[in-house]
Amino acid sequence: MGQTIKQIAEKLKTGDRRALARAITLVESSRRDHREQARDLISQILPATGRSVRIGISGTPGVGKSTFIEIFGKFLTAAGHKVAVLTIDPSSKRTGGSILGDKTRMEELVRDPNAFIRPSPSGGSLGGVARRTREAMLLCEASGFDVILIETVGVGQSETTVADMVDVFLLLLAPAGGDELQGIKRGVMELADLVVINKADGDLKATARRAAAEYKGALGLMRPKSPHWRPEVLMISALKKRGIDDLWETIERYRTARATDGELEAQRRDQAASWMWSELDDSLMARFKEHDAVARRLRDLEGEVKSGKIDPTDAAEQLLALFLAK
Ligand code: GDP
Repeated sequence: MGQTIKQIAEKLKTGDRRALARAITLVESSRRDHREQARDLISQILPATGRSVRIGISGTPGVGKSTFIEIFGKFLTAAGHKVAVLTIDPSSKRTGGSILGDKTRMEELVRDPNAFIRPSPSGGSLGGVARRTREAMLLCEASGFDVILIETVGVGQSETTVADMVDVFLLLLAPAGGDELQGIKRGVMELADLVVINKADGDLKATARRAAAEYKGALGLMRPKSPHWRPEVLMISALKKRGIDDLWETIERYRTARATDGELEAQRRDQAASWMWSELDDSLMARFKEHDAVARRLRDLEGEVKSGKIDPTDAAEQLLALFLAK
């Protein structure tokens, strides 16, 4: 990289954007030497992290995530905040550094000197993509960003992953009710600290109101994650820029409520520990599969399990024995 890790860390902490972009490129690399440098860099900047509001935003394509993040981001920078927007999308493929079809997203926010937008790292498993996004978040914090927005398109397990690295998880929905309400997976609803119904404007306003009432009812039946906060339902219009100040005020109220008994801090500590375990899971599994003796037997044994020749537990034990043998 031409510069020492210490130099990059120092530059990053002055808020230098190029240093930030390069540092993120480093943590996104899967080259072994880069991984080592990235770990070094993260440990050097770690004391300068954590001083931000971490907000997760999930919603299926078309609910208005880009429109909302653009408006919300501008609202925050106008109020003096520095906003970083990161994305977790395991299906994303980058071409020449930008996501396909992503160029026109958040046109104004892209040009805002107090905003930083980084598309999802591409390729690899959700775990790998999430790890790189989490490290990018730490780098942004060290670089002085005090609001981090982590967006996900809501495929597979990505909502859980995002919920596991933020302070507040926001579920963005479009107006709909009845059958469509049932379509939202219960598990995803349970993650939400705030349910935000977008497009509450024009003809959609009445539907939005009905949907809000239904979601309130549905949330009321769930056990809240925290004794200090009951998930709330809000209506906004990203297009008409309505309800954004209310939403931010609600997030502030949420943070104050959950600061009670140090609950939010405890959540961050638990998240850190759960990251350690998932890192262990991922890297142990990767090493297991790369192990020569294991790799040689894996396919055959799997076939034997499928054909009922050998019991799954027995096969797993045999593979583990190969892995652990000197
Ligand atoms: P994303 O796929 O979730 O990022 O959604 P987009 O932000 O690209 O928005 C999808 C469509 O919904 C676009 O045509 C937007 O103009 C429209 N849209 C977004 N927000 C609103 C809103 O508040 N009201 C209305 N009526 N349309 C909206």
